[in-house]
Amino acid sequence: MLNLSHLTSYLTCPRLSYYRIRNKEESFTELQAVREVYISFRRGFDLNWAEKRIEILHNFDAEVFKKAVDKMIFNRKALDDLRSIDWDVPVRSEKFGISFTIDELVEKDGVAPLYVALKAPEKDVWFKDAIKIAAACICCNYSFGFVYYAYSGELRICKLNFGLKRSFLKLLERVKMLENGFLPEKKEGEYCKICKYKEICSSQPETFASKFL
Ligand code: SF4
Repeated sequence: MLNLSHLTSYLTCPRLSYYRIRNKEESFTELQAVREVYISFRRGFDLNWAEKRIEILHNFDAEVFKKAVDKMIFNRKALDDLRSIDWDVPVRSEKFGISFTIDELVEKDGVAPLYVALKAPEKDVWFKDAIKIAAACICCNYSFGFVYYAYSGELRICKLNFGLKRSFLKLLERVKMLENGFLPEKKEGEYCKICKYKEICSSQPETFASKFL
């Protein structure tokens, strides 16, 4: 079964998604750190509790944790209007063959999913965050969602519309093709510098079929 990170990885590089589908082991990220701190603070717990959550749920890395905490802003004012209903909500959709976790379910003019992210774009939300909201809305029947950008303490709304539904389905179809074994094209860029699949990637040439993914 796919998970949402396979879809968002595809946007960074299709091959990264291909390798992540086949390799479950991933290192601890700033986003995971920020997400656990957010969940803890929203429930009235402190950083120590967030650290405990991380030790249980992830491969704790003190350096990554500190980096994330130093940059994070917990903006109570921006979040005050949102009534927290649930958090860390697992979703498994047999219909779409995808599973993921909603960071928080909140209520404001209706129930909506909320995701925590790092840096905000100038306006609206990043496409990868819109895809996460789309997945939650389509699989769980919501019509809008929120993204909390933790490095600036901003809350942004994202509404599900026809274009977003179509983008989500197209991306899901592309990633399902990778799941079925198609090796996609490389999308070389900044991420290659830190990509843990660099070696295997350079040893696997592109094929004619990979051009169509
Ligand atoms: S090394 Fe670059 S092109 Fe290859 S999988 Fe990683 S990000 Fe993609």
